[in-house]
Amino acid sequence: MNIRNNINKFKQILPPHCQLIAVSKTQSVEKIREAYEAGQRAFGENKVQELMSKYAELPTDIQWHLIGHLQTNKVKYIAPFIHLIHSVDSFKLLVEINKQGARNARRISCLLQVHISQEETKFGFTPEEVLQLVATPDIYQLENIAIAGLMGMASFTEDKAQVRKEFRGLKNLFDQLVSMSLPSLQEMKILSMGMSGDFETAIEEGSTMVRIGSALFGERKM
Ligand SMILES: *Cc1c(COP(=O)(O)O)cnc(C)c1O
Repeated sequence: MNIRNNINKFKQILPPHCQLIAVSKTQSVEKIREAYEAGQRAFGENKVQELMSKYAELPTDIQWHLIGHLQTNKVKYIAPFIHLIHSVDSFKLLVEINKQGARNARRISCLLQVHISQEETKFGFTPEEVLQLVATPDIYQLENIAIAGLMGMASFTEDKAQVRKEFRGLKNLFDQLVSMSLPSLQEMKILSMGMSGDFETAIEEGSTMVRIGSALFGERKM
């Protein structure tokens, strides 16, 4: 795997409105450095502990994205520096992120994770829950978070039509939320969808942020 070539390839494929998040979970600091030297600055990790140790070792101008499930008791560790949390899946978590944002005198950008796949194990709100959440008055009091958009993962399947349908549903929800022009949604602009196996479809369906791991770094060793 030539990481530099892969980064450059993605820079050419992605439309200008779509940002590349290099998913570096399980990858070594050396490999991340290689991507960094190729100009990549946005990296995604799914575990807080791993994120913290890489954060400590790597350049400070990296934008760190949390893409995996986040437990409320771990928010405090990442709150000082995290660039974007893709995986907000409960109101309780949003409240805790807000609290830690206030402690660090910053507003933390969050995406609401929406369950769009047919698989049962994945975290996230249903579209109905998202519509309810953004309309609850409680959310207006959270001044130290910004709801910057939505994140979703499509089913892990060869059925391209199914994947497309799921991405399209997420884009429709996104557009619906934007059109509601609620105070809690003034900053909605990110639609995080697409991974190594399905990013082309995600882009066709309106993705503004793709999360790419194995296509950049090679297969992960577990
Ligand atoms: C691991 C992971 C990715 C990247 O997966 P690849 O198939 O390696 O590109 C993207 N998003 C999330 C939430 C992940 O956990």
